[in-house]
Amino acid sequence: LYTRSSQLFAEAEKVIPGGVNSPVRAFRAVGGTPIFVKSAKGAYLYDEDGNRLIDYINSWGPMILGHAYEPVVQAVIEKAKLGTSFGMPTELETQIAALAVSMVPNIDKIRFVNSGTEACMSAVRLARGFTNKDKIIKFAGCYHGHSDSFLIQAGSGAITFGSPNSPGVTAGTAKDTLLAKYNDLENVAELIDANKNEIAAIIVEPVAGNMGCIPPNSGFLEGLRQLCTDNGILLIFDEVMTGFRLAAGGVQELFNINADIVCFGKVIGGGLPVGAFAARSEIMNYLAPLGPVYQAGTLSGNPLAMAAGLAMLKALDADRAIFQRLEEKTAYLAAGMEKVLKANNVVFTINRIGSMVSVHFDADPVVDFQTAAKGDNETFKKFFHGLLQEGIYIAPSAYETWFITDALSYEDLDFTIQAVDKVSKTF
Ligand code: PLP
Repeated sequence: LYTRSSQLFAEAEKVIPGGVNSPVRAFRAVGGTPIFVKSAKGAYLYDEDGNRLIDYINSWGPMILGHAYEPVVQAVIEKAKLGTSFGMPTELETQIAALAVSMVPNIDKIRFVNSGTEACMSAVRLARGFTNKDKIIKFAGCYHGHSDSFLIQAGSGAITFGSPNSPGVTAGTAKDTLLAKYNDLENVAELIDANKNEIAAIIVEPVAGNMGCIPPNSGFLEGLRQLCTDNGILLIFDEVMTGFRLAAGGVQELFNINADIVCFGKVIGGGLPVGAFAARSEIMNYLAPLGPVYQAGTLSGNPLAMAAGLAMLKALDADRAIFQRLEEKTAYLAAGMEKVLKANNVVFTINRIGSMVSVHFDADPVVDFQTAAKGDNETFKKFFHGLLQEGIYIAPSAYETWFITDALSYEDLDFTIQAVDKVSKTF
């Protein structure tokens, strides 16, 4: 499987630093080369040699209805033929905004950017402008993209900069970013106390998808909401991974908790580069033209991306049962894998919520950042390569999430469970 991709990778390395642009670090960490993909349809990827792979990487999350989803493809083709003019208003942008606002609780205005990174960066900037405070709290292991507004340190890899200079800030923390422990409310309260009246926002992945799919402990999100309300701090939910995936209204709907600002990416673009951030008008109006907080972008809201995103949201809005179906498929896959792993005496933990799942080969019930920082163990590496040999492509780290799509059939899931059985016998 790797032969042709290895050649292509060598060619790429001559002209692209790191070989390719996609998150390649994780592939290298498991001792592999990313497979070069020629085409993708539904639940499958096809490599340069025509090998078919069942795909659980899912372009890292956007293709919830499967690859080359026809209504999205058609919408993009039609718009491309009409020609586009970037940086000018189009009706498509208004339509997707109105639809998104109708699907997600507690927001009435939304602004489009080009990625999840930009969405989180913009949300933090808006929070700083709105509150006139500088500090933010983020959680170790939560990933909010690659901007240098805040620390980049996720389970899947730690890229660090900055230096510690106040409580809660440790090596690897960007300026004005305080680092807290996920699922630890006391720790958050201490940081707030130590930085009274200086904190603009708390940003959190409300389900920690970048730490191996860790759900919030009971009361954690409610506690964050309360701490924010009590202390005049804005709560930012980074729903780049979970938005339009765990429910039409994301984690806010699922757990019935409202954030002040919500960030989107991945699914909202239907596979094209779209990010967005949203809030109630009283906050979002800070971005009005010539408002106090600057926000712009040549490609923001560009018509091709808006066409793709609109087609995607329309499909999800029209068939709300999708989220239930995805949950059922995920539960089925997780239960099947649990059964065969147990039967083969493997020590493992499976984390699952909605259409997200991850498999760890250790006994810890919950993986935290400290565990993740140690990296994947040898068992996981065997698991990854074994499944690849069976034609199944999973995220190349147990600290990444597998994404279940509507295109995956129960046959695909059964095949996967059988492959897990086969591979785990070789551990
Ligand atoms: N926030 C979360 C929760 C993410 O999972 C990601 C990407 O994986 C991002 C932000 C960054 O989004 P993007 O890669 O589109 O810049």
